[in-house]
Amino acid sequence: MSAIVGIDLGTTNSLIGVMEAGFPILLADGNGGRLTPSVVHFPAEGAPLIGRTAARMPAIDPENTIYSAKRFIGRRVGEEADDVAYRLAGERGEPVLIRTRGVNRAPEEIAAEVLKKLRADAERALGEPVTRAVITVPAYFNDAQRNATKRAGELAGFTVERIVNEPTAAALAYGLDRLKERSKIAVFDLGGGTFDISILELSKGVFHVLSTNGNTRLGGDDIDAALVAHLAERTAGPEDHASPAVTASGHPACSTGATDETSVCHDTRGRVSSARHDAALLARLREAAVEAKHRLSDSASATVELPFAAGRESISLPITRAELERIAAPIVERTRAHCRRAMADAKVTPADLDEIILVGGQTRMPLVRRLVAEIFGKPANTSQNPDEAVAIGAVIQAGILSGAVQNVVLLDITPLSLGIETFGGLMSVIIPRNSTIPIKRGEMFTNAVSGQRSMLVRVLQGEREMARDNWELGKFDLEFEPAPKSHARVGVQFEIDANGILRVLARDTKTGRERTVEMTSAVDVSDEAVEKMLVDSLEHAFEDMNDRAFTEAKLKAGEMLPAVRIALDQAGGELSAEEKQAIAARVSEVESAIAARAAQPLKKAVAALDEATQRLAAILVERAVQGR
Ligand code: AMP
Repeated sequence: MSAIVGIDLGTTNSLIGVMEAGFPILLADGNGGRLTPSVVHFPAEGAPLIGRTAARMPAIDPENTIYSAKRFIGRRVGEEADDVAYRLAGERGEPVLIRTRGVNRAPEEIAAEVLKKLRADAERALGEPVTRAVITVPAYFNDAQRNATKRAGELAGFTVERIVNEPTAAALAYGLDRLKERSKIAVFDLGGGTFDISILELSKGVFHVLSTNGNTRLGGDDIDAALVAHLAERTAGPEDHASPAVTASGHPACSTGATDETSVCHDTRGRVSSARHDAALLARLREAAVEAKHRLSDSASATVELPFAAGRESISLPITRAELERIAAPIVERTRAHCRRAMADAKVTPADLDEIILVGGQTRMPLVRRLVAEIFGKPANTSQNPDEAVAIGAVIQAGILSGAVQNVVLLDITPLSLGIETFGGLMSVIIPRNSTIPIKRGEMFTNAVSGQRSMLVRVLQGEREMARDNWELGKFDLEFEPAPKSHARVGVQFEIDANGILRVLARDTKTGRERTVEMTSAVDVSDEAVEKMLVDSLEHAFEDMNDRAFTEAKLKAGEMLPAVRIALDQAGGELSAEEKQAIAARVSEVESAIAARAAQPLKKAVAALDEATQRLAAILVERAVQGR
């Protein structure tokens, strides 16, 4: 059997590794690098460039160089800010597409290119084919995002053995043996694009995730964007052109960007034009700013250098750590509320936590470490390389699956509640938030309308009370035999496997007809269709609810009245005149309650008729027993 590799498919960087001789090791590419930038460049001709070679291209060809694609994976247009240098496509509410060289590509296709490169690097390093993988995702990823990630793996030729939450993987990497028998840990993961905080409990070698919180759109990229905006501001405005920070280089105009007149040569005065309006310059500025940000984790000051920024002049912008911290502080500060919520959900205080683990490159920033120490009242454990912890954990998980690592069981939880829409556009929760997975839960539902031939099962994820405020993961119809209102019995079962993939099964218990739908995509439904369904459900919400109580009683009466009539024909002679009179009175009460459409009087009248016909029923039973 081939080895299972562990992959950290990061927003900024990705890594791949494998268990060798009982140790998790990360595999290097042909140049000895273990961090592969999650960047894909599409040249005018030939195969895409991936990783390190592509990471240089945003400066040269921003429109055709895709970075941070993970932000868009499994998402719809409008859900994610489009603050990237390349173009996004797709209609609002439709899946996000990335447009390069006239071609629209799904974010998972971009991710697949990165995974293909990792796979090729691993095959070169191991000297054998690699086909099985464990891939990590942020704990906060919903089903659509998990499925899209799985699809990316499959497009790259992998069998995806498991999707693992990043914080859980990281906790594995930090090592179980060093922690005491029973302990609680917080995993603070601030990467390029996502922030995750997880509270885990470790007990006798078993990990249990007590709570997760976070934000899929908070990370180092935001700090980069704020820093770039700050630096671009310093290159902007006519009065700023001659600022001392901008120095003439004497380089001939347009030597590197002569083909791109709009981005480099548009300033006829030969000055450095505002980086804010110049995509190529902005991309170069971003690259230099990120480098400076990294340097400022170790040094108190750095300089952002852009040689020959606009053909004639170079840009040189000094920046101090204090200045960067001022820019980054509001972004970093946003992690605090998530940490508090995670602790509250897990019912722990900082004092209960034995370890705080740091994950994600951005946690190298001293400001982040100070904030973490402040939030949790103790300094974080920095014994592992925060860039590699998730990948190492993925490798260990792969080792667990292949049998190379034993005695570890991982329990994960659902980050958000899952349920279906019921009458009135309400969210009916089937699997509550923070449930341990794998999990299987079911509930019985019924039809709202008499003669209805199918039921729409609309699968929702979220915490809001109204269906419309939650995310729709998918919907499907289950056909069943036309039945009176409230008579169909449709069992809906949710099952989340160890990968966090949700399978929804709906079964008509009468016919046994069933449908199972894997929530492979949350993005295949048009906005209008969703909109219309919601409007319809809201319009009929109240009358449906009132009708329901009445119809249930009327259905019962509808079954009883003919049965009573037949029984009277057969055995009425054995009843006293008073008994027959009482039954006739109850029958007319039922009929008038139906005519009045009065739910409660009808319920009472049906119960009274039931009572009044007890002896009649007993006579019939007796006759049946005696074979008369
Ligand atoms: P990850 O998603 O874990 O690969 O984290 C990548 C993020 O960490 C990016 O925003 C990087 O700019 C940032 N990062 C990497 N190294 C450092 C460093 N030394 N100081 C500050 N941020 C860093």
